[in-house]
Amino acid sequence: MERGLDTRVVHSGERREKLEEISTVNPIYLSNTFTLDEPAEMDAILGGQRSGFTYSRHGNPTVAALADTMANLEQGEGAVMYGSGMAALQGALLACDLKPGDTVVVSRDLYGATVSLSKQVFGSFGIETQVVDMSDTQAVVSLLCDERVKAIVFESISNPLLRVANLPAILEAAQEHGVISIVDNTFATPYLCNPLKQGASMVVHSTTKYLNGHGDVMGGAVITNAQTKAKLVAQQKLTGGVLGAMEAWLTQRGLKTFALRFERQLASASELASRLDAHPMVARVHHPSLVHHPDHDLAMSLFPRGQGAVLSFEMDGGQAAVYELMKSLNLVVPGTTVGDVYSLLLYPSMASHRSLSPEEKRNAGITDGLVRLSVGIENVEDIWNDLDTALREAAAKSV
Ligand code: PLP
Repeated sequence: MERGLDTRVVHSGERREKLEEISTVNPIYLSNTFTLDEPAEMDAILGGQRSGFTYSRHGNPTVAALADTMANLEQGEGAVMYGSGMAALQGALLACDLKPGDTVVVSRDLYGATVSLSKQVFGSFGIETQVVDMSDTQAVVSLLCDERVKAIVFESISNPLLRVANLPAILEAAQEHGVISIVDNTFATPYLCNPLKQGASMVVHSTTKYLNGHGDVMGGAVITNAQTKAKLVAQQKLTGGVLGAMEAWLTQRGLKTFALRFERQLASASELASRLDAHPMVARVHHPSLVHHPDHDLAMSLFPRGQGAVLSFEMDGGQAAVYELMKSLNLVVPGTTVGDVYSLLLYPSMASHRSLSPEEKRNAGITDGLVRLSVGIENVEDIWNDLDTALREAAAKSV
């Protein structure tokens, strides 16, 4: 019997035979569920006896392709993708099996929301957060000896002062004391370092940033060993913060030009850092390529291919001067992210670090005149002209 039109519009064209040809770019599997001819096969996948896809919260082919790429780039045994960098950090902390009374050590200049995640979300379950100055390697190492410390979270290059953590020393101490180490490698990217190779337990990325790079996708990743990956997957099936297939596909496409983009961004950031360092309207520049940066030597030895594509600088005149600068820019976009193809300027006091008390800001070195620049792929002379003109206009207006 011929099926009704109302049935045919639902099923026609779907579930076609597999193509013999292999598409050179992965398809986007915008399907929340997957069917198999053989019920026993479906049973085996759902039971975990064989790999495969049944439901996109448990796994999706487009997302799995990106996870494989992330594992490859960070040289881990596996990776799990999340709906944002924060979801990835939450997943990583959840996989530490923390109990009430356990302590998580976090670096003082960690991305503000990561500190709040540990203090507020995990704190509400009785987990303590201990904030430490990561540049004081001795202080970090002695904290790791405390048996209540179960995990440490830090960034390979910090935001917004671009402090560089002594990765080898800290990761070795964490291993020695059985402390789980979570390294947020968002700013350094796999182009500059692979913390898993140096002994990190888990590497986290906000793929929203450099890896996607085009300002159109949120995403996060945790890259780790096979055993921890299995735990992350099991927990993510329950917590559900998965990455969508469309976002995964866009990120995979963005990644194809990541090395080319980042190479340009690294070179332009160093060039702009040294020009800003000599600018009469700039009081101080923070970038590890500069000899006066406190971590210059460490950065040059850990990251010889470039010292990051973000820099920050301080203006005399505090908030008023920064606001004038933001209004005077024509090319650089005032915005709250990093790592996109276009240059972005952020006022940490207003955005990333707004939840800090005045004392916390002072301790973290976040002054009223500090601005952060994420260097894009534009012609470096155009970025410079925009900054130079805007700095001079801002200085004239805020006198
Ligand atoms: N880690 C770092 C270093 C970040 O800068 C950010 C966001 O700015 C995050 C994590 C959080 O990532 P997302 O915004 O994708 O949740």
